[in-house]
Amino acid sequence: MQGLEHIRHFRAANPGYMTLEGTNQYLLGREAITVIDVALPSPDNIDGILAEAEAMGGKRIEKILLTHIHRDHCGGALALKKRCGAKLGISRLRAGYLGGEDLVYSQGDTIDYDGGRLEVVHTPGHESGHCCFYEPERQILFTGDHILGRGTTVIAPPDGDMVQYLRSLEKLSRLKLYRLFPGHGPVIEDPHGKIREYIEHRLMRERQIMDALREGHRTTASMVEAIYTDTPAPLHSIARRSVEAHLRKLIQEGRVRRDGELYFLNDARP
Ligand SMILES: [Zn+2]
Repeated sequence: MQGLEHIRHFRAANPGYMTLEGTNQYLLGREAITVIDVALPSPDNIDGILAEAEAMGGKRIEKILLTHIHRDHCGGALALKKRCGAKLGISRLRAGYLGGEDLVYSQGDTIDYDGGRLEVVHTPGHESGHCCFYEPERQILFTGDHILGRGTTVIAPPDGDMVQYLRSLEKLSRLKLYRLFPGHGPVIEDPHGKIREYIEHRLMRERQIMDALREGHRTTASMVEAIYTDTPAPLHSIARRSVEAHLRKLIQEGRVRRDGELYFLNDARP
């Protein structure tokens, strides 16, 4: 498909386990540029975004849109707004979170940019106010942290919610998709394959947790030890949040019960 030359990104210098090479801050447009997510308030980062805008022929930055309120996506939004006077947008559910927002959006809202029109797709799960931005005409989706270019995203309760996360993936799977532009990692060229892989991965983890419970693991720490054998130790605390997210889903579905810090299967099958 033609017509993606007006989309670029400037990667923030915040590499890490969770941010991969750094946050992808997207720039869309021709003369008036819309920026999706601003990770860092540092002059280097803001200058980098402005230079990228200029390099693509942009005369000004008119809008900043945020996928969600995690620091590595919104941390530089006010600094960029201050430098260029752009209008700042945020999920209606997070209105006022940063202060200085000029527009709010919800599921189904449309947002024009210089070169196209985005539709807001509310995708709770990773963060309850999380929004992806979909351009039906080009069948592209800016996925924030809901889908990453590599690896999986963190679902950390209580705001992170596995039931909603999977529902949001199903919702995205019903869109016509040519490319996904994630908040971290490379562009995804097989959107539906990736969404399927993401759903299957979570269901695989759920089965592993059910197995661990069946084997007598009772705490999230013990389940992480049993399941995340290939995961580096620094990520184990994050893995515990993820296991907790799965357990909350299983409790909601009546398959598991909790007693203090201990978890038990309701299903008595061996
Ligand atoms: Zn996030």
